[in-house]
Amino acid sequence: MNVQTLVLIKPDGLKKSLTGNILTRLSETKLEIVAAKISRVSRQLAEAHYMHMKDKPFFEDLIKYICGELHQRHKVMAMVYWGEDAINKVRALAGATNPEEADSVSIRGAYGRITTKGVYENVIHASRDREEAEREIKLWFSPDEVIVDLYPTKTVELKQLQKKVWA
Ligand code: UDP
Ligand code: MG
Repeated sequence: MNVQTLVLIKPDGLKKSLTGNILTRLSETKLEIVAAKISRVSRQLAEAHYMHMKDKPFFEDLIKYICGELHQRHKVMAMVYWGEDAINKVRALAGATNPEEADSVSIRGAYGRITTKGVYENVIHASRDREEAEREIKLWFSPDEVIVDLYPTKTVELKQLQKKVWA
């Protein structure tokens, strides 16, 4: 069954110049990329993304990590991969959350590390299940940034909307 999943190359992945390696590894899946962009990560977006972690003792460090404050890279690369069993295929390639426990040929096993503060810098995020994928894709992308119709949409009329265009 074709499903969609959110993938983020986290700030450590960008700082370590791993974008090409990670995309090459993900291309082994033969899944289709249906959305991609470089995003600034506001504190609000970070907190929404990791809302299930907010009671963890490392939450503040996790927010700093995903916002790029630990790597002087205030951005992530966000993508939606789509295709047969996409969620499980990408999670399998990503490897376990803890980079020390991740298979050494997985992306996290090969490139991740644990900081002295105990945060798992694991270079990539991948949605865990379909509910999480839906919540995350809707958080990171608007419908017109995705080239296929993944979820129902509606048209709203916006008055006095200001939009930046090329001068
Ligand atoms: N994390 C961490 N320490 C932990 C658990 C999680 O630093 O003990 C970080 C890690 O970067 C992880 C993120 O929090 O990717 C989100 O945790 P989750 O349990 O959702 O793992 P994931 O879905 O990313 O494998
Ligand atoms: Mg998770």
